[in-house]
Amino acid sequence: MPPEIGRMQRFAAELLARQGALVELIEPEAIEVLAPPAVQQALGMHELFRLGFGAAPPAGATRVGIESDWLDRFGQLLGEAGHCAQLVLHPDARAPADPQRVLEHALVLDNATFRLLDVVPAWTRYAILYFRFSAVSDEKRDGVLRLGVNLATGALPDAVLEQIAPWLAGDGAEASLPEDADPPPVWERGRLLELVDRALQPRLDTALAPFAKGLSRRFGRDQERLYSYHNDLHRETMRRLLALAEGDAARRREEQRIEAIRREYQAKLDDLSRQYAMRVAVEWVQTLQLVMPVQRFMVQIRRRKAERVMHLDWNPLARRLESPPCEFSWSDERPRLVCDEALHLVTKEGIAPCEDCGRVFCRACHRERCPRCRSAVRRSGVARGFHGG
Ligand SMILES: [Zn+2]
Ligand SMILES: [Zn+2]
Repeated sequence: MPPEIGRMQRFAAELLARQGALVELIEPEAIEVLAPPAVQQALGMHELFRLGFGAAPPAGATRVGIESDWLDRFGQLLGEAGHCAQLVLHPDARAPADPQRVLEHALVLDNATFRLLDVVPAWTRYAILYFRFSAVSDEKRDGVLRLGVNLATGALPDAVLEQIAPWLAGDGAEASLPEDADPPPVWERGRLLELVDRALQPRLDTALAPFAKGLSRRFGRDQERLYSYHNDLHRETMRRLLALAEGDAARRREEQRIEAIRREYQAKLDDLSRQYAMRVAVEWVQTLQLVMPVQRFMVQIRRRKAERVMHLDWNPLARRLESPPCEFSWSDERPRLVCDEALHLVTKEGIAPCEDCGRVFCRACHRERCPRCRSAVRRSGVARGFHGG
């Protein structure tokens, strides 16, 4: 029996059961289904039916295979549900032996001190979003981007998610949530979208950086070539022109030629910019809600006379403490600086001098404008701002 038939059967049985159908295995390669009305409607089947997954289905069974229209019918049944899944993991979540050391390793603050107050077992929920992106220029690059947020702490633990990726793929075997588990609630849609709006960009930039770099190199090389060609033409024409007397008809012609060279050069440059402009498209594909136990570190941040307590989760599968997000850019870059006003943790960029008046200010405190000169806060990004130059 080819392995994909077994998988198909299991997929169908699980999907149907999840949609409220009663599913019974009647033969190694066949199931009998008692379907509620919604399932009957989506699949175009009666209340009771049999599905066969082998080469020779039993009597009365409809044969299901990947070549048939059954993938479409199951897709119908999945509907929106397929875009949002929940996974509960329940690993051994004992705390690390030396939390102090773990914290010192994970948290690097350039201008503040911190103190570990406590470590307590807790539950968290990660919203993990998958996006498909494609960048098109003179070449094309596409891929899948994963963006996850810890809904209890607000951390965006890219490195932790990378490490636990094998568990995320899952084999469909879910642990159930223990009675005493209290994961944080799902975020309201607007809050999540706002975070995605900020956090996706730096990650997309990172994913596209090698592509953008190659693009920029090819663009630079072609620009150079264009310049050198037209510069030679220009110089040559200039030389002829200077040899001619003022008011000479031949000199007029050379002047017109120089003007034509200038125009052609500009037009060719414009063409090149268009050719190398990068268009990026991003499409949300799926969201996974991962619920699991963690160890929660209560950390006190101190800067000058001010202090703030923040929570950082230690993930037992990755055996790693999640670093706090930059509260301005939501990027994963380190280290962090602490602002004076609200003790925000931000990257260097988040507390840089104003580009117009030079005033140093926290972009998490002042998201839109510089508090002194009111000039708008700019956000960088290759994918956003790159137009071939
Ligand atoms: Zn300013
Ligand atoms: Zn701040």
